[in-house]
Amino acid sequence: MELKLYNTLTRKKENFKPLIGNEVRIYTCGPTVYNYAHIGNFRSYIFMDNLRRVLKYNGYNLKHVMNITDVGHLESDADEGEDKMEKAAKREKKNPYDIAKFYTEAFFKDMESLNIEIPEIIAKATDHIPEMIEYVKKIIENGYAYETSKGIYFDISKLDKYPVLSNRKMDEQIAGARVDVDPEKKNPYDFALWIKAPENHIMKWESPWGLSYPGWHLECTAMGNKYLGEEFDIHTGGVDHIPIHHENEIAQAKGATGKIHAKLWMHVEFLQVDGGKMSKSLGNVYTISQLAERGIEALAYKLFCYSAHYRTKLNFTFDGALSSQKALNRLREGYLKHLKGEDEVKNEIIQEYETKFLETINDDLNIPAAMGIIWDIVRSEQKSKKYAELLEKFDQVLGLDIKNSQRYLEKQSNIEIPEEIKELIEKRKIARQEKNWKLSDEIRDILVKKGYQVEDSKEGMIVKKI
Ligand code: AMP
Ligand code: ZN
Repeated sequence: MELKLYNTLTRKKENFKPLIGNEVRIYTCGPTVYNYAHIGNFRSYIFMDNLRRVLKYNGYNLKHVMNITDVGHLESDADEGEDKMEKAAKREKKNPYDIAKFYTEAFFKDMESLNIEIPEIIAKATDHIPEMIEYVKKIIENGYAYETSKGIYFDISKLDKYPVLSNRKMDEQIAGARVDVDPEKKNPYDFALWIKAPENHIMKWESPWGLSYPGWHLECTAMGNKYLGEEFDIHTGGVDHIPIHHENEIAQAKGATGKIHAKLWMHVEFLQVDGGKMSKSLGNVYTISQLAERGIEALAYKLFCYSAHYRTKLNFTFDGALSSQKALNRLREGYLKHLKGEDEVKNEIIQEYETKFLETINDDLNIPAAMGIIWDIVRSEQKSKKYAELLEKFDQVLGLDIKNSQRYLEKQSNIEIPEEIKELIEKRKIARQEKNWKLSDEIRDILVKKGYQVEDSKEGMIVKKI
């Protein structure tokens, strides 16, 4: 059956076919490890997981690279400000390498709790400095870059077309470039491939251009080229990467090889919180463990993400996520009922579901519609082991770890609540009745410190052990 995927480059859904044989070569822009990844970041990796699983479900083998950006991502994507890693090192009074190690480990722990498959190749930027230097040299040799006192810059005016990915016109792209233009740059929108390190910059390497470090855009293009070759199948990232990061990646690949390196460019829309942007100042940049503190499992967040197609914005609210937690439990209970069921179900019905499911996921990963099929099966009056097996099969794509339903449900119900905790819960109940939200939140924080989380729902307060 045909697999259709939307390509940002052509703005069309295209029939997918790998460039070579049965192997799909993919590059995903990975995290910048200067802080905990937030739930918005994880929306993009849940999308990545769905893509991987759908491709595998269609019988393809994968060679998938994801980078870890541990140097060179400046505060603004357009080469402005301080290196995020160095800034974090100052903030936490640590070495940037320790910062990278700590947040990389935290990232993979969250990935595991989300049951996200890890790409075949994880490429850390700082492990690939020699390859990156070679890539910059190629761009310079081909006449697409020049040196200034600050670094090596890509000369955009040498390209036949820029931008190609975003639908923006060149003057809009220029307007997006910084106002305070560096007089050494030939064009205001030229960007840094390689950055000469200031005195106090810790992460720096010997290079033909002195002690310096790679630019973020360059890292991805050079590492993709190393593992996947000059042309590969799919490149993924969030929509924020369209106008700058991926545009500049394409410029670099054209400068080095004359070609756009990926055939298909896939971008996941943003997660918003309470209808707006996530931002530190609003205090709404949540992590996976902060959701857990409020009684929302990582997998419930994954299910929450399935309420919208990856190309539409998704609005996060705690109420919505708590509903997903309940839905996940209903899904688990439904699966277990089928597992014990003995009703007869005709093979044609199973076949029909299989075809419908494949059609749906192959329509540009329509996971929300695929969930509709899952609920149909879960709610079926007839209880049958065949349905349970079908749910397990479909879970190869959804990655909700349905097989372990029993274990998750037991973990949630097996709690004995000590007297002291019961008293606190009672006090919180009264505070809420009196609409004393401040006191109610304070008690909730004390409960969390003592290892219990409370979840407020229409049915009342639910208490869980963390
Ligand atoms: P970063 O660690 O900043 O390089 O981002 C990692 C990934 O998360 C990138 O693919 C971003 O495009 C993506 N991303 C960042 N914020 C959001 C968001 N609010 N919703 C969805 N994806 C996001
Ligand atoms: Zn990238």
